[in-house]
Amino acid sequence: MVKREIFILKTGLTRCSRCGEDVEMAVYVDYMGRWLCKNCFIEFYEKKLRNTVLKYRMFSSRDLIGVAVSGGKDSMAMLTALSKVFPDLKIKAIHINLGIGDYSRDSENAVRRLCDQLGVELIIYDLKKHDGFSLPDLMKTAYRKRICGACGIIRRYLLNRIAWENGVRVVATGHTLDDTVELLFELYLNGRIEEIVRVKPVLEGGERLVKKVKPLIELTDQENKYYADFTETPYSEFECPLARGSRMLKRKELILRIEKEIPGFRHTFYKSHVKRFLPKLDGLIRRPELRACRNCGMPTIGDVCSYCKLVSKVLEVVKG
Ligand code: AMP
Ligand code: ZN
Repeated sequence: MVKREIFILKTGLTRCSRCGEDVEMAVYVDYMGRWLCKNCFIEFYEKKLRNTVLKYRMFSSRDLIGVAVSGGKDSMAMLTALSKVFPDLKIKAIHINLGIGDYSRDSENAVRRLCDQLGVELIIYDLKKHDGFSLPDLMKTAYRKRICGACGIIRRYLLNRIAWENGVRVVATGHTLDDTVELLFELYLNGRIEEIVRVKPVLEGGERLVKKVKPLIELTDQENKYYADFTETPYSEFECPLARGSRMLKRKELILRIEKEIPGFRHTFYKSHVKRFLPKLDGLIRRPELRACRNCGMPTIGDVCSYCKLVSKVLEVVKG
């Protein structure tokens, strides 16, 4: 469990540093060193999201976009905010049910509830029903040692395919600043330059490849939680049982500890990456040529895509 101690929800009268009102409920935005009341926080969050979308030209306010919702606080906060900030946006929410017991059931329920509330079209993809296996089946295969990585392959592939097949050419995911810094930390530590250049607010699309955008990339996990709570956005509080104790969660905890010692660490790391490193690296690293997977026709670097490879290995085990 990631401990969230940096932001403090204060009860008792606090002066909002934006509107100057004395209010009972306020949140402390650590990197600004300011307390904000509920309404000011909501405005602040929505303004930040809007600025991020416009700054990186993620989409235009009347476009059709897919919004990938896991059921967790981040992507659900994003869906609420996008539909409020861009009321003319045409949204198709996409949820993949990975078949991870109560965790997946609770996530799907939350997604259904929110889409109902917002009147947003929802596409649900049931992995077991369509592909004949669920995430826990991976535990019986060699993928068990890197289950989160395998899950990433599945989600990336399916989100792209489902969106493409539904006429969606831009997909928003709920990757946050914390997610991004955690990933960058790992990639820089190991010098994985080809992957480093792919960590950006917008990844352009191509043939059978949707454009991927990250409207939450400059918002922290905690800011998303406060936004979801303040706007009464339903979300699932279940944590994925397969990710428990993962290195990714440990690194996130470590980064929060660093942030405590060096306030602003996450923003600084992210900004250095996007403003200083990316422009230089982008020109140096060539994007690999993509071709159609021999099996499914979706874009891949090799002959057969990693999803098709994974499916054939998993089904061998599942079918016995
Ligand atoms: P995560 O890797 O779990 O932090 O997820 C990153 C983003 O991927 C989320 O914010 C969602 O936008 C998307 N995502 C994750 N899981 C799912 C899912 N089961 N269905 C649809 N989108 C998902
Ligand atoms: Zn394939």
